[in-house]
Amino acid sequence: MKAAVVHDFKSPLSIEDVAKPEVAPDQIIVKIETSGLCHTDIHAAHGDWPVKPHLPFIPGHEGVGIVEQVGPGVTVVKEGDRVAIPWLGYACGTCEYRAFGRYVAKVPAKVDPFEAAPLACAGVTTYKAVKMSGARPSDLVAIFGIGGLGHLALQYAKIAGASVVAVDLVDEKLELAKKLGADYTVNGRKEDPVEAIKKLGGVDAAISLAVAPKAFEQAFRSLRRGGTLVFVALPADNYMQLPIFETVLNGIKIVGSIVGTRLDLAEVFELHADGKTQVIYEKRHLEDVNHAFEEIEKAQVAARLVFDMM
Ligand code: NAD
Ligand code: ZN
Repeated sequence: MKAAVVHDFKSPLSIEDVAKPEVAPDQIIVKIETSGLCHTDIHAAHGDWPVKPHLPFIPGHEGVGIVEQVGPGVTVVKEGDRVAIPWLGYACGTCEYRAFGRYVAKVPAKVDPFEAAPLACAGVTTYKAVKMSGARPSDLVAIFGIGGLGHLALQYAKIAGASVVAVDLVDEKLELAKKLGADYTVNGRKEDPVEAIKKLGGVDAAISLAVAPKAFEQAFRSLRRGGTLVFVALPADNYMQLPIFETVLNGIKIVGSIVGTRLDLAEVFELHADGKTQVIYEKRHLEDVNHAFEEIEKAQVAARLVFDMM
Protein backbone atom coordinates (compact mmCIF):
# COMPACT_ATOMS: atom_id res chain seq x y z
CA MET A 1 0.00 0.00 0.00
CA LYS A 2 1.05 3.57 -0.66
CA ALA A 3 2.08 5.80 2.25
CA ALA A 4 3.85 9.12 2.98
CA VAL A 5 6.67 8.25 5.38
CA VAL A 6 8.75 10.45 7.70
CA HIS A 7 12.30 9.05 8.03
CA ASP A 8 13.88 12.02 9.80
CA PHE A 9 12.74 15.40 11.09
CA LYS A 10 14.66 17.46 8.51
CA SER A 11 13.92 15.70 5.20
CA PRO A 12 10.81 15.77 3.02
CA LEU A 13 8.36 12.89 3.36
CA SER A 14 8.80 10.05 0.87
CA ILE A 15 5.99 8.28 -0.93
CA GLU A 16 6.57 4.55 -0.61
CA ASP A 17 5.01 1.15 -0.89
CA VAL A 18 4.73 -0.28 2.61
CA ALA A 19 3.43 -3.67 3.74
CA LYS A 20 -0.34 -3.86 4.24
CA PRO A 21 -1.04 -4.68 7.90
CA GLU A 22 -2.55 -8.03 8.91
CA VAL A 23 -5.71 -7.90 10.96
CA ALA A 24 -5.26 -8.97 14.62
CA PRO A 25 -7.69 -9.51 17.53
CA ASP A 26 -9.59 -6.28 18.40
CA GLN A 27 -8.28 -4.64 15.25
CA ILE A 28 -9.77 -3.74 11.92
CA ILE A 29 -8.43 -2.96 8.46
CA VAL A 30 -9.80 0.24 6.97
CA LYS A 31 -9.38 1.18 3.32
CA ILE A 32 -8.72 4.90 3.64
CA GLU A 33 -10.77 7.14 1.33
CA THR A 34 -9.84 10.58 2.65
CA SER A 35 -7.30 11.96 5.12
CA GLY A 36 -7.17 15.54 6.34
CA LEU A 37 -3.84 17.30 6.86
CA CYS A 38 -3.72 18.83 10.34
CA HIS A 39 -0.95 21.22 11.42
CA THR A 40 -0.17 18.62 14.11
CA ASP A 41 1.11 16.27 11.35
CA ILE A 42 3.53 19.02 10.29
CA HIS A 43 4.75 19.53 13.88
CA ALA A 44 5.17 15.73 14.24
CA ALA A 45 7.08 15.41 10.94
CA HIS A 46 9.38 18.29 11.95
CA GLY A 47 9.94 16.95 15.48
CA ASP A 48 8.71 20.30 16.86
CA TRP A 49 7.73 19.17 20.37
CA PRO A 50 9.49 18.10 23.57
CA VAL A 51 8.04 14.61 22.95
CA LYS A 52 8.95 13.34 19.48
CA PRO A 53 7.39 10.51 17.47
CA HIS A 54 9.48 7.35 16.91
CA LEU A 55 11.02 7.25 13.44
CA PRO A 56 10.10 6.18 10.82
CA PHE A 57 6.37 6.88 10.98
CA ILE A 58 3.37 7.57 8.78
CA PRO A 59 1.59 10.77 9.88
CA GLY A 60 -2.13 11.49 9.57
CA HIS A 61 -4.97 11.40 12.11
CA GLU A 62 -8.02 12.57 10.19
CA GLY A 63 -8.53 9.35 8.24
CA VAL A 64 -11.92 8.24 6.94
CA GLY A 65 -12.53 4.99 5.09
CA ILE A 66 -14.41 1.75 4.69
CA VAL A 67 -13.92 -1.21 7.03
CA GLU A 68 -12.46 -3.99 4.87
CA GLN A 69 -11.79 -6.66 7.49
CA VAL A 70 -12.58 -7.07 11.19
CA GLY A 71 -10.44 -9.06 13.62
CA PRO A 72 -11.77 -11.44 16.29
CA GLY A 73 -13.52 -9.64 19.15
CA VAL A 74 -14.58 -6.56 17.16
CA THR A 75 -18.30 -5.92 17.62
CA VAL A 76 -18.74 -2.16 17.22
CA VAL A 77 -18.22 -2.07 13.45
CA LYS A 78 -18.62 -4.45 10.54
CA GLU A 79 -17.21 -4.80 7.04
CA GLY A 80 -18.50 -2.07 4.74
CA ASP A 81 -19.07 0.54 7.47
CA ARG A 82 -17.61 4.01 6.86
CA VAL A 83 -15.57 5.06 9.88
CA ALA A 84 -13.41 7.95 11.02
CA ILE A 85 -10.21 7.24 12.90
CA PRO A 86 -9.47 10.02 15.37
CA TRP A 87 -6.18 10.92 17.06
CA LEU A 88 -6.81 8.96 20.26
CA GLY A 89 -6.27 5.35 19.33
CA TYR A 90 -3.60 4.32 16.90
CA ALA A 91 -2.42 7.24 14.79
CA CYS A 92 -1.69 6.60 11.14
CA GLY A 93 -3.72 7.90 8.26
CA THR A 94 -1.70 9.11 5.32
CA CYS A 95 -1.57 5.62 3.91
CA GLU A 96 -4.12 3.62 2.02
CA TYR A 97 -5.00 1.19 4.81
CA ARG A 98 -4.68 0.93 8.50
CA ALA A 99 -5.29 -1.53 11.29
CA PHE A 100 -6.05 -0.69 14.93
CA GLY A 101 -8.40 -1.11 17.87
CA ARG A 102 -11.77 0.01 19.04
CA TYR A 103 -11.56 3.76 18.79
CA VAL A 104 -13.27 4.36 15.46
CA ALA A 105 -16.40 6.44 15.05
CA LYS A 106 -19.07 5.57 12.49
CA VAL A 107 -19.57 8.31 9.91
CA PRO A 108 -23.28 9.05 9.38
CA ALA A 109 -24.52 8.40 5.83
CA LYS A 110 -25.39 12.11 5.40
CA VAL A 111 -21.77 13.23 6.03
CA ASP A 112 -19.50 13.38 2.97
CA PRO A 113 -16.15 11.57 3.53
CA PHE A 114 -14.19 14.67 2.48
CA GLU A 115 -16.02 16.70 5.13
CA ALA A 116 -15.87 13.91 7.72
CA ALA A 117 -12.04 13.84 7.68
CA PRO A 118 -11.46 17.39 9.08
CA LEU A 119 -14.25 16.83 11.59
CA ALA A 120 -12.30 13.86 13.03
CA CYS A 121 -9.63 16.19 14.50
CA ALA A 122 -10.22 19.87 13.70
CA GLY A 123 -13.95 19.49 14.40
CA VAL A 124 -13.87 17.44 17.58
CA THR A 125 -10.94 19.44 19.00
CA THR A 126 -12.58 22.82 18.59
CA TYR A 127 -16.01 21.54 19.64
CA LYS A 128 -14.41 20.48 22.93
CA ALA A 129 -12.36 23.70 23.18
CA VAL A 130 -15.54 25.78 22.85
CA LYS A 131 -17.10 23.68 25.65
CA MET A 132 -13.99 24.29 27.80
CA SER A 133 -14.25 28.03 27.10
CA GLY A 134 -17.68 28.07 28.74
CA ALA A 135 -19.05 30.14 25.82
CA ARG A 136 -22.70 31.09 26.35
CA PRO A 137 -25.25 33.35 24.67
CA SER A 138 -24.30 37.01 25.25
CA ASP A 139 -20.58 36.13 25.56
CA LEU A 140 -17.97 37.53 23.21
CA VAL A 141 -15.38 34.91 22.20
CA ALA A 142 -12.13 35.51 20.31
CA ILE A 143 -10.80 32.84 17.98
CA PHE A 144 -7.07 33.35 17.31
CA GLY A 145 -6.09 31.58 14.05
CA ILE A 146 -8.66 30.87 11.34
CA GLY A 147 -7.09 27.74 9.85
CA GLY A 148 -8.32 24.17 9.74
CA LEU A 149 -9.29 24.35 13.40
CA GLY A 150 -10.32 28.00 13.58
CA HIS A 151 -12.90 27.93 10.78
CA LEU A 152 -14.78 25.26 12.72
CA ALA A 153 -14.16 26.75 16.19
CA LEU A 154 -15.95 29.93 15.21
CA GLN A 155 -18.98 27.98 14.02
CA TYR A 156 -19.20 26.03 17.31
CA ALA A 157 -18.90 29.28 19.30
CA LYS A 158 -21.80 30.69 17.25
CA ILE A 159 -23.82 27.49 17.85
CA ALA A 160 -23.17 28.01 21.60
CA GLY A 161 -24.83 31.41 21.13
CA ALA A 162 -21.75 33.61 21.54
CA SER A 163 -20.64 36.50 19.35
CA VAL A 164 -17.26 35.92 17.72
CA VAL A 165 -14.14 37.98 16.98
CA ALA A 166 -11.92 36.21 14.44
CA VAL A 167 -8.20 37.07 14.47
CA ASP A 168 -5.70 36.05 11.77
CA LEU A 169 -2.86 37.58 9.75
CA VAL A 170 -4.38 36.84 6.33
CA ASP A 171 -7.31 38.83 4.86
CA GLU A 172 -8.70 35.86 2.89
CA LYS A 173 -9.03 33.90 6.14
CA LEU A 174 -10.93 36.77 7.73
CA GLU A 175 -13.24 37.02 4.70
CA LEU A 176 -14.01 33.33 5.16
CA ALA A 177 -14.58 33.89 8.89
CA LYS A 178 -17.19 36.56 8.07
CA LYS A 179 -18.97 34.21 5.64
CA LEU A 180 -19.06 31.55 8.36
CA GLY A 181 -20.66 33.93 10.85
CA ALA A 182 -17.89 35.88 12.64
CA ASP A 183 -19.28 39.16 14.00
CA TYR A 184 -15.93 40.99 14.00
CA THR A 185 -12.58 40.35 12.33
CA VAL A 186 -9.10 41.63 13.16
CA ASN A 187 -6.00 41.33 10.98
CA GLY A 188 -3.11 41.12 13.46
CA ARG A 189 -0.66 42.40 10.82
CA LYS A 190 -2.63 45.61 10.30
CA GLU A 191 -3.79 46.42 13.82
CA ASP A 192 -3.05 45.32 17.36
CA PRO A 193 -5.66 42.62 18.16
CA VAL A 194 -5.53 43.54 21.86
CA GLU A 195 -6.42 47.20 21.16
CA ALA A 196 -9.11 46.20 18.66
CA ILE A 197 -10.70 43.71 21.07
CA LYS A 198 -10.46 46.10 24.06
CA LYS A 199 -12.50 48.59 21.99
CA LEU A 200 -15.23 45.93 21.89
CA GLY A 201 -15.03 45.67 25.69
CA GLY A 202 -12.74 42.61 25.82
CA VAL A 203 -13.72 38.98 25.42
CA ASP A 204 -15.19 36.48 27.90
CA ALA A 205 -13.10 33.71 26.36
CA ALA A 206 -10.27 33.40 23.86
CA ILE A 207 -9.30 30.20 22.07
CA SER A 208 -5.65 29.98 20.92
CA LEU A 209 -5.38 28.11 17.64
CA ALA A 210 -2.58 30.17 16.04
CA VAL A 211 0.84 28.52 15.89
CA ALA A 212 2.67 31.40 17.62
CA PRO A 213 3.27 32.21 21.34
CA LYS A 214 2.74 35.90 20.51
CA ALA A 215 -0.88 35.12 19.59
CA PHE A 216 -1.31 33.35 22.97
CA GLU A 217 -0.06 36.49 24.75
CA GLN A 218 -2.42 38.68 22.71
CA ALA A 219 -5.30 36.31 23.47
CA PHE A 220 -4.51 36.59 27.20
CA ARG A 221 -4.48 40.40 27.08
CA SER A 222 -7.79 40.50 25.17
CA LEU A 223 -9.69 38.92 28.07
CA ARG A 224 -12.21 40.64 30.30
CA ARG A 225 -12.07 40.21 34.07
CA GLY A 226 -12.97 36.58 34.90
CA GLY A 227 -12.20 35.50 31.34
CA THR A 228 -11.00 32.09 30.16
CA LEU A 229 -8.08 31.39 27.86
CA VAL A 230 -8.10 27.99 26.13
CA PHE A 231 -4.75 26.65 24.84
CA VAL A 232 -5.10 24.39 21.81
CA ALA A 233 -2.30 25.16 19.32
CA LEU A 234 1.07 23.47 19.92
CA PRO A 235 3.75 25.79 18.47
CA ALA A 236 7.37 24.59 18.26
CA ASP A 237 8.29 27.58 20.42
CA ASN A 238 6.86 26.19 23.66
CA TYR A 239 6.88 29.22 26.00
CA MET A 240 4.89 32.42 26.45
CA GLN A 241 5.07 35.29 28.93
CA LEU A 242 2.24 35.26 31.42
CA PRO A 243 1.89 38.08 33.97
CA ILE A 244 1.07 36.63 37.41
CA PHE A 245 -0.32 39.85 38.88
CA GLU A 246 -2.96 40.44 36.17
CA THR A 247 -3.92 36.74 36.12
CA VAL A 248 -4.60 36.83 39.87
CA LEU A 249 -6.24 40.25 40.08
CA ASN A 250 -8.52 39.59 37.10
CA GLY A 251 -9.37 36.02 38.13
CA ILE A 252 -8.30 34.64 34.75
CA LYS A 253 -8.71 30.92 34.02
CA ILE A 254 -6.24 29.20 31.72
CA VAL A 255 -7.05 25.74 30.45
CA GLY A 256 -5.38 23.31 28.05
CA SER A 257 -7.62 21.33 25.73
CA ILE A 258 -6.64 18.18 23.86
CA VAL A 259 -8.84 16.77 21.07
CA GLY A 260 -12.22 15.49 22.42
CA THR A 261 -14.08 12.31 23.34
CA ARG A 262 -15.89 9.87 21.09
CA LEU A 263 -19.13 11.38 22.35
CA ASP A 264 -17.91 14.84 21.27
CA LEU A 265 -17.12 13.40 17.83
CA ALA A 266 -20.56 11.82 17.56
CA GLU A 267 -22.10 15.23 18.38
CA VAL A 268 -19.84 16.92 15.81
CA PHE A 269 -21.03 14.50 13.11
CA GLU A 270 -24.64 14.97 14.18
CA LEU A 271 -24.40 18.77 13.94
CA HIS A 272 -22.85 18.44 10.49
CA ALA A 273 -25.44 15.92 9.30
CA ASP A 274 -28.11 18.43 10.43
CA GLY A 275 -26.53 21.10 8.19
CA LYS A 276 -25.40 23.28 11.10
CA THR A 277 -21.69 23.43 10.17
CA GLN A 278 -19.66 23.90 7.00
CA VAL A 279 -16.30 22.24 6.33
CA ILE A 280 -14.14 24.26 3.96
CA TYR A 281 -11.57 22.04 2.23
CA GLU A 282 -9.52 21.58 -0.92
CA LYS A 283 -8.46 18.20 -2.28
CA ARG A 284 -4.85 17.13 -2.76
CA HIS A 285 -3.13 13.88 -3.85
CA LEU A 286 -0.78 12.05 -1.53
CA GLU A 287 2.11 12.67 -3.97
CA ASP A 288 1.71 16.42 -3.25
CA VAL A 289 2.22 15.95 0.50
CA ASN A 290 5.42 18.04 0.77
CA HIS A 291 3.93 20.91 -1.19
CA ALA A 292 0.77 20.64 0.92
CA PHE A 293 2.90 21.04 4.09
CA GLU A 294 4.42 24.20 2.62
CA GLU A 295 1.03 25.64 1.64
CA ILE A 296 -0.21 25.24 5.22
CA GLU A 297 2.96 26.63 6.78
CA LYS A 298 2.68 29.71 4.56
CA ALA A 299 -1.05 30.04 5.44
CA GLN A 300 -1.97 29.86 1.73
CA VAL A 301 -4.81 27.41 2.27
CA ALA A 302 -8.43 28.54 2.73
CA ALA A 303 -8.96 26.18 5.70
CA ARG A 304 -8.19 22.43 5.38
CA LEU A 305 -6.45 20.22 2.81
CA VAL A 306 -7.82 16.70 2.45
CA PHE A 307 -5.97 13.91 0.62
CA ASP A 308 -8.10 12.11 -1.91
CA MET A 309 -7.16 8.43 -1.54
CA MET A 310 -10.18 6.97 -3.39
P1 NAD B 1 -3.50 25.95 10.42
O1 NAD B 1 -2.12 26.18 9.94
O2 NAD B 1 -4.53 25.44 9.49
O3 NAD B 1 -4.08 27.28 11.11
C1 NAD B 1 -3.32 28.19 11.84
C2 NAD B 1 -3.85 29.60 11.55
O4 NAD B 1 -3.23 30.52 12.44
C3 NAD B 1 -3.57 30.08 10.13
O5 NAD B 1 -4.76 30.55 9.55
C4 NAD B 1 -2.57 31.22 10.33
O6 NAD B 1 -2.70 32.24 9.35
C5 NAD B 1 -2.96 31.71 11.72
N1 NAD B 1 -1.91 32.45 12.43
C6 NAD B 1 -0.57 32.20 12.46
N2 NAD B 1 0.05 33.11 13.26
C7 NAD B 1 -0.91 33.93 13.76
C8 NAD B 1 -0.91 35.04 14.64
N3 NAD B 1 0.22 35.49 15.18
N4 NAD B 1 -2.10 35.62 14.92
C9 NAD B 1 -3.26 35.17 14.40
N5 NAD B 1 -3.32 34.12 13.55
C10 NAD B 1 -2.17 33.51 13.23
O7 NAD B 1 -3.35 24.92 11.66
P2 NAD B 1 -4.47 23.96 12.31
O8 NAD B 1 -4.43 22.64 11.61
O9 NAD B 1 -5.73 24.71 12.45
O10 NAD B 1 -3.81 23.71 13.76
C11 NAD B 1 -3.60 24.78 14.66
C12 NAD B 1 -2.78 24.34 15.86
O11 NAD B 1 -3.56 23.49 16.69
C13 NAD B 1 -1.51 23.54 15.53
O12 NAD B 1 -0.47 23.93 16.42
C14 NAD B 1 -1.92 22.11 15.81
O13 NAD B 1 -0.83 21.27 16.14
C15 NAD B 1 -2.82 22.33 17.01
N6 NAD B 1 -3.75 21.24 17.29
C16 NAD B 1 -3.99 20.95 18.58
C17 NAD B 1 -4.91 19.98 18.91
C18 NAD B 1 -5.21 19.68 20.34
O14 NAD B 1 -5.82 18.64 20.61
N7 NAD B 1 -4.85 20.54 21.27
C19 NAD B 1 -5.59 19.28 17.89
C20 NAD B 1 -5.34 19.63 16.58
C21 NAD B 1 -4.43 20.62 16.28
ZN1 ZN C 1 -5.10 17.22 14.37
